[in-house]
Amino acid sequence: MNRFDYVRPSTVAEAVQALGSDPAARFIAGGTNLIDLMKYDVERPGKLIDITRLPLDKIEERDGGLRIGALVTNAALAYDARIRERYPLLADAILAGASAQLRNAASTGGNLLQRTRCYYFYDTATPCNKREPGTGCSAIGGVDRIHAILGTSEHCIATHPSDMCVALAALEATVRVSGPQGDRAIPFAEFHRLPGDDPAKDTNLAPGEIIVSVDLPARGFAGHHTYLKLRDRLSYAFALVSVAAALELDGRTIRTARLALGGVAHKPWRNTDAEALLQGRPATRESFKAAADLVLREAKPQSTNGFKIELARRAIVRGLEQAAAGTPQSQSDKRIQ
Ligand SMILES: Cc1cc2nc3c(=O)[nH]c(=O)nc-3n(C[C@H](O)[C@H](O)[C@H](O)COP(=O)(O)OP(=O)(O)OC[C@H]3O[C@@H](n4cnc5c(N)ncnc54)[C@H](O)[C@@H]3O)c2cc1C
Ligand code: SF4
Repeated sequence: MNRFDYVRPSTVAEAVQALGSDPAARFIAGGTNLIDLMKYDVERPGKLIDITRLPLDKIEERDGGLRIGALVTNAALAYDARIRERYPLLADAILAGASAQLRNAASTGGNLLQRTRCYYFYDTATPCNKREPGTGCSAIGGVDRIHAILGTSEHCIATHPSDMCVALAALEATVRVSGPQGDRAIPFAEFHRLPGDDPAKDTNLAPGEIIVSVDLPARGFAGHHTYLKLRDRLSYAFALVSVAAALELDGRTIRTARLALGGVAHKPWRNTDAEALLQGRPATRESFKAAADLVLREAKPQSTNGFKIELARRAIVRGLEQAAAGTPQSQSDKRIQ
C-alpha cells in the first residue's frame, strides 16, 4: 500500500501553502478521478490536500455573467436555475456526462483536471509517455479507436474526456487560479494544452496553483445551442465525438457562431476559423457543411479511428442544425430531438 499524509486546509492560502513545491502532493475534491487513479497505481501521492472545506462552493453574479466556485458540484451547476436559463448549453453538456451519483460528487475544478481515458494510461504494465515520460506511446499502432484525430503528436494521441469543458470552451469561459506567485486568470482556450513533446502536462497551470473559479461571460447563447454527444452507449459513456454549437441569428443569417468539439483532441477543440466562416452566412446545411470541412481539414486518423472524421463531420452539421432550429438535444431525458 502507498502511504500518504492527509491535510484539510480551510483557506485557499493554506491550501496553496500545503501544496508548496511538493511534486508528490495532490489536491483532492470529489475524488471521482483521483481515487480511481490511485487504485490503478497511476497516481501515488505522498500527501492528499482535501480542499472540500474551502469556501469555493458558490455561484455568484459577476459583470453580467456568473462566477462558478471550483467546488460547485457538477450536479449543483447543471441544475442551478441561472445556468439552466442563461447557459443551457453548459447544463446540457454536464448532464451528458458520467452518472447522477458521480455528478453529485464531482467538482468544477476536478472536471477541468480529470485525466485522459486512454486505456494504456491506466495500465501500468504498458509504456505511456503521459504516465511515465520517455517510455513511448502504446496507443500509436495499438488499440486507438477512442483516440484523437486532431492536434496529435508523435508522443501522445490521447483525448480530453470532459463534456463540461467543451461547453466552457464554446462559451469563452475564464479560469481563475491562485498560486505561490499570486492570482491570475487564464482564458479557457489557453487552459488545456496539446501533447506536443510533453504529453505528461495536460494544462498550463503552473506548479502550486489551485483553480479558484470558472467565470462565464454575459453571453450565454440561450436561444440557439446544442450539446450533441455521440458515444457507444446513450448513458454513462465518454464521447467518441461531441459538439457544442451556439448561434446568434438575425432572421436566418448567422450573426455569431461558436463551435467546439470533444472526444477528438487532447483539449476541447474550438475552431475560431470555422466560427468566422459562418458569420454572415445563411443558417443552412451548406454553410454548416463548409464549417465542418474546415474544422476537419487537418484531421488525421490513427489505425482504427478513421470513422471519427466522418462522425465528427455529421455531428457538426447536425449540432449546428439543432442550434439553428432551437431544438437542442435533450440530455436529461435522453430524447433526441
Ligand atoms: C465511471 C465514470 C464515468 C465518467 N463519465 C464522464 C463523462 O461522461 N463525461 C465527463 O465529462 N466526465 C465523466 N467522468 C469524469 C468526472 O466528471 C470527473 O471524474 C470529475 O469531474 C472530477 O472531479 P472531482 O472533483 O471528483 O476531481 P478529483 O478526482 O478530486 O480531482 C481530479 C484532479 O483535479 C485536481 N483538482 C481538483 N480540484 C482542483 C482545484 N480546485 N484546483 C487544482 N486542482 C484540482 C486533483 O488534484 C486531481 O488531480 C466520469 C467519471 C467516472 C468515474
Ligand atoms: S495516447 Fe498518450 S496517454 Fe495514451 S498511451 Fe499514448 S502517451 Fe499514454
